[in-house]
Amino acid sequence: MVAASALCYNGAVLLSVSLVRLVMMKCSVIRSLCALLLLLFLLPAPAYAGPAVPFAAPYADAMRPPFQGDVERPDLPHYAVHLDVDMARGELRGTLDLLFRNMTGGPLRNAVLRLYANFPRDAFGDGGDGAATVADVFIDGQPVQPRSLAQHTAVELPFPHALAPGGDTHIQLRWSAHIAPLHGTDDTLVLTSAIPQLAVWDGGWRTDMTVLPDHVYAVSGLYHVFVSAPAEWLAAGSGVEVARTIQGPSATSELVSGPVREFALALGRFQRLEADADGITVRVLSRRDGRVPEEVARKILARATQALATATARYGPYPYRALTFCVLEAGRGSSDAREYSGFILLLLDHGYSATTHEDVAHEVGHQWFYGMVGNDIYRDPWLDEGLAQYTTFVVIQQWDGAAAANAYFSAEIAELAARSRYSLRPANSYPSWSSYYASVYGRGGMFVAALRAQVGDEAFFAGLRQYVEHSHYGIAHPDDLRQALEAASGQQLSKLFAQWLGM
Ligand SMILES: [Zn+2]
Repeated sequence: MVAASALCYNGAVLLSVSLVRLVMMKCSVIRSLCALLLLLFLLPAPAYAGPAVPFAAPYADAMRPPFQGDVERPDLPHYAVHLDVDMARGELRGTLDLLFRNMTGGPLRNAVLRLYANFPRDAFGDGGDGAATVADVFIDGQPVQPRSLAQHTAVELPFPHALAPGGDTHIQLRWSAHIAPLHGTDDTLVLTSAIPQLAVWDGGWRTDMTVLPDHVYAVSGLYHVFVSAPAEWLAAGSGVEVARTIQGPSATSELVSGPVREFALALGRFQRLEADADGITVRVLSRRDGRVPEEVARKILARATQALATATARYGPYPYRALTFCVLEAGRGSSDAREYSGFILLLLDHGYSATTHEDVAHEVGHQWFYGMVGNDIYRDPWLDEGLAQYTTFVVIQQWDGAAAANAYFSAEIAELAARSRYSLRPANSYPSWSSYYASVYGRGGMFVAALRAQVGDEAFFAGLRQYVEHSHYGIAHPDDLRQALEAASGQQLSKLFAQWLGM
């Protein structure tokens, strides 16, 4: 893909040289024609009609050495993003170059991008004011008119020509969105799901919507992000920073990722603590004003390192070079934790609590289940949440002992499940956040525990390693989990799955 872009560019240069030579010919007709052609060629090009953006980026820098080859997968879309943070206007402005290959198996007549910033206000009262727009859309150099879909949470981009299976296309556009600093501060931004992203193809483009807080359903992609913000701010997100240049009052950070489900980013006056965990840099960002005490950041760092070690031993290696936590005061009377690929947001209510201890393990579990192995969070939300919830139990078992693990299981899985009136089902079929939570986290965790009890410890963890290995960077379905556990145990699990999933 990279080579093709470079060839296009060189081809254009060669063409212009040939035209100049032709104009020098004596024949007046040819001279006039060539002059006209040359004039056309030299006319100001429409926006983005210049040479293709170099999609070559040091993506491999975001990966640990044994996994650097993972960035070569042909099915990974490439996102090249330039992002300007204009705090005075409360606006985010950017350009996006997206290169992707038609993996649908048939000719493709359009692409659909999700604008997650335009999702309605969620069940926690967050979001709903993103006002994201796209404009100046070009596909392979030709202007196209975007069409808004799904209450502006998606845009359809028609292709000038159908894209053959296996063919590549290059989408270029400008986008903007409103930004709101967190919790009354004017110097901390957490940009999650801000960048327009390809929708998932599932026989058609999926444009699901929800008011539940988890809403990103995406294929893994490689990101090359340039973000300009005030020079005294730090930028950290999914992936690693490969360069930083300061120009007057602002600084531009260049960040790259490996294959990630989405690119999340925090910007602000941060201090950071770091630790090396077997070749992975674990980083905890907190504000320099000390509202989150350093002691709390240290505890999170220690817990994250434990959870990474357990998950690696149980599920297989973490392929990325870094895992970043952004820790902020919740400021609203309850804690919250949210997972993104290579990036975890923790909003703390009362310093480092028992909830924080559990949440860190849960969100680290999501790095495998959601981050690496995606799933249809609209149809099978229990698949990543059940496994992440159960990861907390596994981490507590290893580091805090059997009594603590049993107490956690009883309170956060079994009792939650007992409260649930709903079987495991699609996300939008629950009437409320609390009913979703009790079923997806409670019953989801119970189902995972039932699978372990059924196949035994050895086959259970071998099956999960197989599941991760088979579906990493892809999208898995409940059948993939069933087949991996069946292969590892030699047991038939269709009945157990049908029982829990109400099939
Ligand atoms: Zn979760």
